[in-house]
Amino acid sequence: MRGNPLPDAIVVGAGIVGAACAEALSRAGLRVEVYEAAFAGSGTTARPMGHIVVMDDSEAQMALTRRSRELWQDFAPELPAACEDEAAGTIWVAADEEEMEHVRSKHEFYGARGVATEVLDGAELARLEPNLRPGLAGGLLVPDDRVLYPPAATRWLLERAVSRGARLSEGVEVLALGVRSVLTRAGERVAGAVINAAGFAAPRLTPRLPIEPRKGHLVITDRHPGFCTRQLVELGYLKSAHTPGRESVAFNVQPRATGQLLIGSSRELVGLDPAINRPLRDRMLRRAMEYMPALAHLSALRTWTGFRPATPDNLPLIGPWEPLPGLYIAAGHEGLGITTATGTAEILADQILGRAPRLDPAPYSPMRKAEAHHA
Ligand SMILES: Cc1cc2nc3c(=O)[nH]c(=O)nc-3n(C[C@H](O)[C@H](O)[C@H](O)COP(=O)(O)OP(=O)(O)OC[C@H]3O[C@@H](n4cnc5c(N)ncnc54)[C@H](O)[C@@H]3O)c2cc1C
Repeated sequence: MRGNPLPDAIVVGAGIVGAACAEALSRAGLRVEVYEAAFAGSGTTARPMGHIVVMDDSEAQMALTRRSRELWQDFAPELPAACEDEAAGTIWVAADEEEMEHVRSKHEFYGARGVATEVLDGAELARLEPNLRPGLAGGLLVPDDRVLYPPAATRWLLERAVSRGARLSEGVEVLALGVRSVLTRAGERVAGAVINAAGFAAPRLTPRLPIEPRKGHLVITDRHPGFCTRQLVELGYLKSAHTPGRESVAFNVQPRATGQLLIGSSRELVGLDPAINRPLRDRMLRRAMEYMPALAHLSALRTWTGFRPATPDNLPLIGPWEPLPGLYIAAGHEGLGITTATGTAEILADQILGRAPRLDPAPYSPMRKAEAHHA
């Protein structure tokens, strides 16, 4: 480290969130260093679906996901083929009339906030996705949602930062954070700002951060190009995503560029045990087959697990951490960190550079009282 001019910013962690921060800060002309304990994109970022999705659990979530999707759209023409970026769209699937009511209110909510959606009746849904079970009531198509391959997108963001002079050090663990400094085995390194983007491990460096790992399973199938063409999610997904109980599953299927299907999703709070919970995985697959019976004819090639960095109010922690001057947090993105990495990076770059904020950062402040916000 000695001999290099002092950086303006140090990013701890090269998951997709740290990578997006490095990209945005280097684009603004800052000298950036990134320290990654393992290798870039090897944490939770190696394990998700890669759905770039606008979500409406709260106004703050809507604002961040909508802006983040716009930023991904801006990147889209430059993303290399390896990122498998595609404007596939999402269909929120309604099983019955009661869920169709939800579809209509979702349509209004999105429309009032400038997000295009289309209400589908049962016949339109069946025409667009014939492998869904017959008799579903309809759905909400969100045509501008995207799908990409997160590890490749992470590499691309880092390569952009490095091409502007950023330094990426892999295999370098940050042992502690100080005032505008980080400690590694090579000694102390000082910077104008330090960003803790260590994902679910962020509280190890900043102990009072309210982040806990929320485990999820995914299954990938063999190749069946055209089996479905959009990300298909049951309307009950949000309920499942935010039930405080120990285990939940929801129908969530994604077509990959390879012709494979990714099948999710599950959530459970079991610490950092990566073992496959077979009963829960089987429940997840049964749920998927309830919606898409033809999935039973596909082969599941692999199952894996990953840990979403979850917060009590389901919003990420983005912004200055007041107890330690110069420290910023960019962590706690739960099941939306691929989507919201870009918006997170923009918020932090605005704050570090003292620019007028594009998004109101208050709802994401790591200093917020999470319970108060939830209320
Ligand atoms: C099953 C599943 C499905 C998902 N699907 C989606 C989806 O479809 N769409 C979506 O938007 N999101 C999805 N997510 C969520 C998304 O994957 C995460 O929110 C996101 O990857 C978090 O990125 P991160 O950079 O914060 O964390 P990570 O990717 O975990 O990166 C943190 C990095 O910090 C490094 N690190 C930790 N401690 C230190 C240290 N002391 N020193 C140096 N480096 C350190 C780690 O090695 C790691 O590489 C899903 C998650 C799961 C588990």
